[in-house]
Amino acid sequence: MTDFTFSARSYDFTKYVDCLNWIGGEWTPAQSGETIAVLNPRHGKEMGRVAWSDGADVRRAVEAAKAALPAWRATPLKERAQVLYRVKRIMEERLDELSWLLDHENGKTIAQARGEVLKGIECVEYGCSLPNIAQGEQLDVSRGINCAVTHEPVGVCAGIVPFNFPTMVPLWMLPQALAAGNTFVLKPSEQTPYGAMRLAEIFKEAGLPDGVLNIVNGGKEAVEALCDDPTIAALAFVGSTKVARLVYERGSKSGKKVLALGGAKNHLVVLPDAEPTLTSETVVASSYGCAGQRCMAASVMLAVGDVQHIIERMVRIASEMKLGEDMGAIINPQSVERITRYIDEAEKRGAKVLVDGRGATVEGQPGNWVGPTILDGVTPEMPAGCDEIFGPVLSIIRVDTLDEAIAIENANPYGNAAAVFTTNGGAARYAIERFEAGMCGVNIGVPVPREPFGFGGWNDSKFGNGDMTGYDGFRFWTRPRKVTSRWEVAKDATWMS
Ligand code: NAD
Repeated sequence: MTDFTFSARSYDFTKYVDCLNWIGGEWTPAQSGETIAVLNPRHGKEMGRVAWSDGADVRRAVEAAKAALPAWRATPLKERAQVLYRVKRIMEERLDELSWLLDHENGKTIAQARGEVLKGIECVEYGCSLPNIAQGEQLDVSRGINCAVTHEPVGVCAGIVPFNFPTMVPLWMLPQALAAGNTFVLKPSEQTPYGAMRLAEIFKEAGLPDGVLNIVNGGKEAVEALCDDPTIAALAFVGSTKVARLVYERGSKSGKKVLALGGAKNHLVVLPDAEPTLTSETVVASSYGCAGQRCMAASVMLAVGDVQHIIERMVRIASEMKLGEDMGAIINPQSVERITRYIDEAEKRGAKVLVDGRGATVEGQPGNWVGPTILDGVTPEMPAGCDEIFGPVLSIIRVDTLDEAIAIENANPYGNAAAVFTTNGGAARYAIERFEAGMCGVNIGVPVPREPFGFGGWNDSKFGNGDMTGYDGFRFWTRPRKVTSRWEVAKDATWMS
């Protein structure tokens, strides 16, 4: 086991052990021996190295998961859930350590890292509740004839996750998948592999048998091997739309059940009657939480009519944010370049930069930074008005009417989240009923449907059926078995006789 107990509970640079693959309960290097660097985003320095796996490593992990399947699926659900109760307790005890680990590998602030771990724990709690709610159904469908439905595990499952929530996104998948009796192969982001590494150790400590959860680190090659592997029955993906589409198509081709969540361009519509303090604070928090590197981040504000007083408050709040403390780092230098390019381009096309985060630095932390940025006078045709930027940039598009705002939201191909800010219930309802988005908010900047509700967008933000968390997640990782039985000879026959 790796000793992760470290004293660095600060934004200081911390060196980690190398991150290997977790196969059959053992830390194992990639067969090729290849590794790549994991860079701390605040400091830009190598904090450790991660195994770079190929198809052979994926095969070994799948074999380990397959070998562990018969015993795990034969374990009663109530016993499987006990592991999750212990995972919850361990995560709560180590909340501080887990949060610092996330901060170190991802660059987010300690408050946001803590929020991520707590949301991960909430997902584990949902898994703990399954023995009480996943009992299946039965009905006497005719005289002496009973029909029952049970939720059976699908078998060996896999999950592929992005860099921005290294602990929480795996926990969108693992509690339901494991409680349902499946075994699992997880592929973390090569940029932030430590959250998953720590989870593997926590699940082991909580009593999960070896081979039930396996981790294969790597990139494209490992992902393609997971898509193609014929043993894997269900595959969940969370990441950009480009890769989500590829994974959905390639995984489906080999007969798997695939659910792939993609990128986003979330629109927040602000009406003139919106409550100014709540709206300004909420929109700013949505745009700059996790430095805008959230699929639920506010990316476009559709300013309807005269909301200048709200924009001025937002400018004040954003300008006063302390980079490094109120907002964290950007994942890598390429992302800093990409985000800066979007701001430059919008400015060149006539947008006004009300708050400018370009070239921002943090003393003592020579990593990857962009400060909070507000662009005014953006149009839906500008790249900043329609593409996912995935950084701390809020583009304001000015419109005259709510219908115009809704039309712009609807025209964007993504459909993850949309929200409306107003004190008028009728206007809120009108907007919500017309948004082309799977997750909508009223006076909420990050309308994440918390457990027990399912998480998932529409349109180019999701490929496949169902949602990721809550009972929808349980449905994804199971298949219904229908059993029709007769144990007595019915007196009056029906068409079932
Ligand atoms: P990404 O798509 O680059 O990577 C996601 C995973 O796919 C990683 O494990 C990565 O190793 C792998 N991958 C990358 N390129 C690949 C390729 N060409 N072929 C096969 N596999 C590949 O995403 P990211 O940069 O890690 O994360 C940010 C993106 O994730 C954003 O678009 C964000 O909106 C999205 N995201 C979506 C949700 C959601 O719930 N919809 C949640 C979090 C993040």
